[in-house]
Amino acid sequence: MSSAPTYTPRLLPLRMPRVCVAVTGADASEMMEKAEALVRDNPFLEFRLDYLAKPGLAIPKIKAFMESHPDTVVIATCRRTVAGGRFRGSMASELDILAKASGAGCQLLDVALQTAIKSKPAQVQKLRARSALILSFHDFRGTKKLDEKLQKMLAVQADFHKIVSTATTLSDNVTMIRFLAKESDKHSLIGICMGEQGIISRVLGVRAGSVFTFAALSPDEKTAPGQVTAQELRNLYRIEQVDAATRVYGVAGDPVVHSLSPAIMNAAFRRENVNAVYLTLHAKTLKDLLTCIRGIPLHGISVTMPYKEAILKHLDNTDSHTTKIGACNTVVRAQDGKLYGFNTDAAGVVRPLERRLPTLEGAKILVLGAGGAARAAVFGLKERGCEVYILNRTTGPAKKLARQARARTVKRADLKKLSFDVIVNATPVGMGNTRETPLQEHEINARYVFDMIYDPAETRLLKLARERGAQVIPGIEMFVQQAARQFEIWTGKPAPGDEMLRTVLLALQERAAKSAPVKK
Ligand code: NAP
Repeated sequence: MSSAPTYTPRLLPLRMPRVCVAVTGADASEMMEKAEALVRDNPFLEFRLDYLAKPGLAIPKIKAFMESHPDTVVIATCRRTVAGGRFRGSMASELDILAKASGAGCQLLDVALQTAIKSKPAQVQKLRARSALILSFHDFRGTKKLDEKLQKMLAVQADFHKIVSTATTLSDNVTMIRFLAKESDKHSLIGICMGEQGIISRVLGVRAGSVFTFAALSPDEKTAPGQVTAQELRNLYRIEQVDAATRVYGVAGDPVVHSLSPAIMNAAFRRENVNAVYLTLHAKTLKDLLTCIRGIPLHGISVTMPYKEAILKHLDNTDSHTTKIGACNTVVRAQDGKLYGFNTDAAGVVRPLERRLPTLEGAKILVLGAGGAARAAVFGLKERGCEVYILNRTTGPAKKLARQARARTVKRADLKKLSFDVIVNATPVGMGNTRETPLQEHEINARYVFDMIYDPAETRLLKLARERGAQVIPGIEMFVQQAARQFEIWTGKPAPGDEMLRTVLLALQERAAKSAPVKK
């Protein structure tokens, strides 16, 4: 059985960096060029020699690199296909290449469990003469029997034991993190869950006891499913600062991968020096989400589709406003473990209007839609004394909401005769395109038009409204204000609204630039 780490300070710096960046390349020259470009900001690299058609050709280049960057920590990996890598050679060739990489100065060598148990022990142990050995195991299907796997791995003497599983649920992260917390004081472990849902383990694994974690060089160069870039780990999630006191938050929904909430919330935490991190939580079921909230534990979540209503019955309490709306977008986990629910979408509608209108009392407001966001808007505006009208594609939900909130319904045919202080679009019509609009130009009789949609920033509705002489309020303001309110509920501090707006505008610009056709 291996016990405490056997590697010595002679081989490695006492404190290893938390993030190891995997470097690949079409050939050895490209791999080394990338390494040269990376090394200033990334003192810890993994050369994925198995990505090269001729890994042996990289060895002299690695030697030169190690000589010119003596402070860099480097792992050499030449994983065979049977263990999830790309190397098509034999076990003997894998070990031979790793031995040469060790000779070239790589301080760490990754040997797959499959190779180690089938090779002669002496052959594997020989590699440890000059380098530390990472014994690795990858499970591409799930996160199961981690203890059993570790016991099997401990039969091979190694300096680090690396277990990489796949998260198919958020709860798999809980399994990995508990495993790391339990075993990492006895063994030097590296533990990560792959997959989109494994993000929790990638960010929080290091505080649970994983010696380090892996990151991709860029979104196009991931060497494992769900890997995030080193830049994201450092700048967005501030992994170097994550410690036992770091509070964990996240946006939970299905789908959730394109959410801008991690960008805006992590920027706010950073600006206000709050020791907290905010993650994307792809919850395929509510049960999985609830297990994760208690297991990690999470301090709060932003709830998005499709759980805003369904989560209510799992909460210990909600404020009266949220109960009336019947939907919760903000959960707080108190110190006693109890879950409290709030709805900040109403603040997202009310705050931008308060900034523009001298008073909301008596303001005549038309809300388009009768779904969750419309309900928040209607109740929020009624609470401020507005005269609220509702128009929905189907009349049933509009009538029900009007009855519950003491608002009125209107018929679309009557719109040309009516005028409003504000029209609020709470339907998804116009989302993701600039063609669709919930109202035609002649139906827009209002001083202000507020579209909840924020992508695109200027919807067709807002364009028509501008042409009609109305002032427009883009959905981004709602997005920022509902997030700002969440920040305030979670931290008790005023939210850095300007920083949040700037961050989300930048993220939208980047997104638009990525989806724009490349001009030749
Ligand atoms: P929801 O609960 O699904 O409600 C959608 C509403 O839109 C329903 O009233 C539905 O009418 C109506 N609708 C859907 N498709 C329509 C169509 N083709 N023509 C006319 N009406 C249609 O959705 P939600 O959660 O309320 O969200 C509504 C919109 O607000 C979404 O675009 C969402 O992205 C946006 N939103 C933005 C923010 C922000 O921060 N900016 C926050 C929350 C929501 P029926 O009753 O007839 O189905």
